[in-house]
Amino acid sequence: MKDEIKLIIPSRSQNEGFARVAVGSFVARLDPTLEELNDIKTAVSEAVTNCIVHAYRDTIGLIYITVSAEGNTVTVKIRDRGCGISDVEKAKEPLFTTGGEERAGLGFAVMESFTDKLKVRSAVGKGTTVTMQKKISVKYDRKK
Ligand code: ATP
Ligand code: MG
Repeated sequence: MKDEIKLIIPSRSQNEGFARVAVGSFVARLDPTLEELNDIKTAVSEAVTNCIVHAYRDTIGLIYITVSAEGNTVTVKIRDRGCGISDVEKAKEPLFTTGGEERAGLGFAVMESFTDKLKVRSAVGKGTTVTMQKKISVKYDRKK
């Protein structure tokens, strides 16, 4: 059986912290460095926050999170059934935001730089799926 967990959480802002810690606990088993662990948790926070503030802007909807490990590679998939993104390439550009003054437009840039691979699939009116992959360094290879 695949080494994987699935979480379904409502898009309430306080659940962002839960998602972050839950994914972090799963990943901790693979004995990541503190930096690797924090990178993954930060990327998860950004993706989940996007579901909360953009996908389900004026409503509460469900966020579907899958975390799996294969060898020393972690894959996190975060899916919503919210409003979707009309132009994904544009949305991924640093500083692009539809969130106004409060938002920096840096979430996707953070996900991209804190993981090894980022894939965004979206359909307007149907929702968005963000898939991120990160390789955890093997301990005996680690430089001090
Ligand atoms: P920041 O993350 O810095 O607070 P931001 O959320 O606007 O600002 P990004 O996370 O890079 O920046 O997202 C860019 C834009 O992509 C958002 O402003 C929004 O228009 C769109 N977007 C991102 N995620 C979703 C989503 N899950 N559903 C709908 N739209 C999204
Ligand atoms: Mg964001």
